[in-house]
Amino acid sequence: MRKLIAGNWKMNGLRADGLALARALVARAAAGDPPDCALAICPPTTLLLPIADTLRGSGIALGAQDCHPEVKGAHTGDISATMLKDAGCSYVIVGHSERRADHGETDALVRAKAAAAHTAGLVPILCVGETLAERDAGETLSVVRRQFEGSVPEDLKASEIAIAYEPVWAIGTGRTATTAQVAEVHASIRELLEARVRDGADVPILYGGSVKPSNAIELLGVANVDGALVGGASLNAADFWAIAQACP
Ligand code: PEP
Repeated sequence: MRKLIAGNWKMNGLRADGLALARALVARAAAGDPPDCALAICPPTTLLLPIADTLRGSGIALGAQDCHPEVKGAHTGDISATMLKDAGCSYVIVGHSERRADHGETDALVRAKAAAAHTAGLVPILCVGETLAERDAGETLSVVRRQFEGSVPEDLKASEIAIAYEPVWAIGTGRTATTAQVAEVHASIRELLEARVRDGADVPILYGGSVKPSNAIELLGVANVDGALVGGASLNAADFWAIAQACP
């Protein structure tokens, strides 16, 4: 399967630096020797429209970082999946651990968001992952299973969803899971996908958690790792590109 490298810019980027970063990626894509993977960037909402223009024709897809489960209505400050599609997005991250922690997002809400994304014609990148306390307690696989079963909608085809395994303790910390830890969780997610999603063997499972150029080849070479969700390193064009070029 062609790997997917997605950049999660989080709450970073004003117009000048956000557009400069997007333009730098487009310039690399146009310069020849493109990486053998699909690419997406997920800037903050304020930059979606101008960056959609910047990315047009580049082969780099646009994604958002969250959506509301409803199509429209009295939800001050929220953005619907339909609006994101209208702004030029192809992907939306749902259930990121920062949203689960900062905004109390439950599995049921994440599932509703993923379903709304699908209905709007977006591919949800649905995040699951354990905290350090849960890993230390030996609960990693049961936590990931519970999140998966509670938040992945049924009746999706393989091309309609991606899963991101992001151990919370590895996000933004510089710590990465070992290849054995990644292999174990990704194999477990693959089993869950095969039970829930048509052609579950073809659903991309991304790894996220301090992916950088120096560890990308190793992580992207693990069985069932079909790409990466990249936070901090996606804010630097050279680093993001080097990660993409690590795709085998
Ligand atoms: C993320 O937040 O999705 C992430 C993986 O961040 P970082 O790469 O900075 O750990």
